[in-house]
Amino acid sequence: MRRLYERRLTTCSGGNISLLVEGDTTLITPSGLDKGRIDAEQIGIISFSGENLTPSLKPSIETEMHIRVYQNRTDIKAVVHAHPVISSSFAASEKEINTSLIAESRAVIGKPVRASYAFMGSPELATIVARAANEANTVLLTNHGVLSVGQTLLQAFDRIEVLEAAATITLLGGKRELTVAHLSELEPLEEDSLVINEELVQLITQAVLNNLKA
Ligand SMILES: [Zn+2]
Repeated sequence: MRRLYERRLTTCSGGNISLLVEGDTTLITPSGLDKGRIDAEQIGIISFSGENLTPSLKPSIETEMHIRVYQNRTDIKAVVHAHPVISSSFAASEKEINTSLIAESRAVIGKPVRASYAFMGSPELATIVARAANEANTVLLTNHGVLSVGQTLLQAFDRIEVLEAAATITLLGGKRELTVAHLSELEPLEEDSLVINEELVQLITQAVLNNLKA
């Protein structure tokens, strides 16, 4: 979260990150904290049934959105939601972010999908975004921000960062797209990156849990 903030990918109060542990429990950044200074002991633990296992922390208003995404996407273990400026400007327009301009963006995120607008923190938003996350690993939340999923936090974070780069390149007027042949060459890279990152989830989960117990 601190990394998101320091890289200007979210505001000090906006956005939230979660990690799935033990099947139906999530570690999630709480509401109302300065995202530029958050520490491990300030991470909330919430069950899928909504039980707050860290009652001293106020749950993120987007907790239900995270849980619904995990319930729909049983293949992922991390969700990052943020408000990066350039991607969010696309989320507030009719224009799409072109991920076919740079090989990295196509390999890391494929094609983002768009979720229609619903009020922040509402059950409607959770339903709409979870449905959209079935279609892609990155979602533009209309008039709100972006969300990405990953098998690890690093992969989900990477997708937000690469999405923001792709949005910037689209905004700057990149027009020469990769050819169909070049795009098809990139498909295997997506699979490779998933395999490599799978090992990291154990390390990150253990590190966060150790900090919570400390
Ligand atoms: Zn938000």
